[in-house]
Formats: sequence, C-alpha cells, structure tokens
Amino acid sequence: MTSREDGDSDWRLPASKTFEGETWHQRKYFAWAENWDHDHCAFCWKSFEVPGSRAALASVEHQYTEGWANESEYDWICDECFTDFRERFHWGTREPSPGDRPDTSPEEADRISDDLRVKHGTVIHKDDPPGA
Ligand SMILES: [Zn+2]
Repeated sequence: MTSREDGDSDWRLPASKTFEGETWHQRKYFAWAENWDHDHCAFCWKSFEVPGSRAALASVEHQYTEGWANESEYDWICDECFTDFRERFHWGTREPSPGDRPDTSPEEADRISDDLRVKHGTVIHKDDPPGA
C-alpha cells in the first residue's frame, strides 16, 4: 500500500468536533440568542437560516432551514452530514420534545437580522435625519 485510503480523508473532518455518542433531534432552525440569526453545519459549514425569513428566501443553494440539533440545541448538523457520520460517531436520535426551545418566527428572525445589521453599521436608515 502506497497511499492511505482508510476513509479518514473526508474534507469535513479535520476542523470538526465529532460529538461522539451525542443524541440529536431533527427540527427547524431557530434563533438561539438575540444576537444570532444563523448557524452553520458543524461539518460542512453550510448555513442554517430560520424558515421563511428573508435570509432563508434570499438564497437556497448553500443553506438549510432545518437540521439536527444536539441536546444543548447549540450545535447543528445538516441532514447530509448526519447521514454520513451518524454510525461512525455513534450518534443517537430522539423525537422532538416539549422541552426543546421554541421555533423562531420569520418576522422575529428578520428583526434580529435587522438589529445585527444596525449594530454592524451596514444599514442606512433612509428616515434618519441627515447628520443625526
Ligand atoms: Zn453538513
């Protein structure tokens, strides 16, 4: 054997935690905090956006609106990566439960996005008086 072909060469692996043995549930993406309007798959880094939000509607190519969240609902994995790695890292699954955090409405997600843009100075309000 001259080359190492043991299946550990997946480009998604080197930078990732593996979440060994963790339990996941499938759900819609929601805003985890007031200053947080999107997230990324822990493996492939595609983004998650709140379903129906402007961000979700703006581009559907490199993003998801639902996926797999772990028990903290802080980490997210897309369906594709979940399927690819669930056996390898011994992930479990459970049904959604009443203790899970509530979904975020599209309106709420848009408001959070707007707030973030204002904080980062990338929004100009046309109603703002000149020089204010
Ligand atoms: Zn992924």
